[in-house]
Amino acid sequence: MDLIVQKYGGTSVRDAERVMNVASRVVEAYDAGNNVVVVVSAQGDTTDDLIEKAKEINPNASKREMDVLLSTGEQISISLLAMAIEKIGRPVISLTGWQAGFKTEATYGNARIDRISVDRLEKELDKRRIVIVAGFQGLNKYDDITTLGRGGSDTSAVALAAALHADVCEIYTDVDGVYTADPRFVKTARKLDDVSYDEMLELASLGANVLHNRSVEMAKKYNVKLAVKSSLEKVEGTFVKEVSQVEKMLVRGVTRDNDVARISLCDVDDNPGKAFQVFSMLAKHKISVDLIIQSIGKESKKDISFTVTEEALPEALELLEKDKDTLGAREIKWTKDVSKVSIVGAGMVNNAGVAAKMFEALYDAHINISMIATSEIKISVLVDRKDAEKAVVAIHDKFLA
Ligand code: ASP
Ligand code: MG
Repeated sequence: MDLIVQKYGGTSVRDAERVMNVASRVVEAYDAGNNVVVVVSAQGDTTDDLIEKAKEINPNASKREMDVLLSTGEQISISLLAMAIEKIGRPVISLTGWQAGFKTEATYGNARIDRISVDRLEKELDKRRIVIVAGFQGLNKYDDITTLGRGGSDTSAVALAAALHADVCEIYTDVDGVYTADPRFVKTARKLDDVSYDEMLELASLGANVLHNRSVEMAKKYNVKLAVKSSLEKVEGTFVKEVSQVEKMLVRGVTRDNDVARISLCDVDDNPGKAFQVFSMLAKHKISVDLIIQSIGKESKKDISFTVTEEALPEALELLEKDKDTLGAREIKWTKDVSKVSIVGAGMVNNAGVAAKMFEALYDAHINISMIATSEIKISVLVDRKDAEKAVVAIHDKFLA
């Protein structure tokens, strides 16, 4: 008997009809002789709506109370799905995150899972019940409710699959797999049969928007086999697994990330320690910096530019403004009108021609590159936001069409 963990996202359970659809999917897996644990997210836009509700009353509500509120979205979903399965007539039980044994670190709002005590879950599975678990939530050492950060139900599902040594963790969503590019604007985008954990990590963090980043990290660490599938259509999805089993294609995907802002420090003193001063200060405030360029110094001055997420921009600017004088910077400029466009592929290591080919595609499309960064499995460029989709199409055509 196999143990399958299935996860259904908010759009897959957004209304009664979709909940019934999920119920029949779950029952199908159960009737095939598997033990089934299901993790669900809050219905549709519930989490956003709850955040709005809180803001109406107190825009500065404590993170603890926000977690008490936000965790309710997933509790609605688990009970409704359990009722739907009861209606079909199979044994089922819903459990909150804490009933299912999720223990998290103390932080509210973005807690990491410390461990899962699976005794209750195993007892329920021994009784051949379908177990429905609320994603995105746990309990910290103060016995307070915590949530795992937006999109965190994926991570709940992978953590459960790891803790229960499940045979597979199936992530059901409104897309039917991982694509070579966003199919909404790249007509020639193709679904990938499989990707490696490292590739998926890059694709996830570069804006492919299919899986929560942390869930892929965890799947890699505990070697959980992931399948990304459609909750609506019955088609093969994409498997995320060990690299050796993955077809070695030079470039697997092209992504676009609009959640970037560029900051430029102009005319910083050109002496040792300035870059250190800037980036250690940002790191101390947990602001991660992505692409970086520093110009060659002229007349004892240099420019340093880098990108941060849009969310981190105000704080980064505030901190830098304070340090402006000790940096000797004349001006701090910033813009949100930029996007990061990247190519990802494990087979790209040591392949000299890839970057040139990418830049050629952009040149042919008359798109200017303002920053470049490379790693073993990806190359990223920063372009004007208005050019981003065109850039993705041009690069995709060059490598993958
Ligand atoms: N409902 C939560 C959110 O929207 C968690 C999730 O969907 O995974 O962020
Ligand atoms: Mg959601």
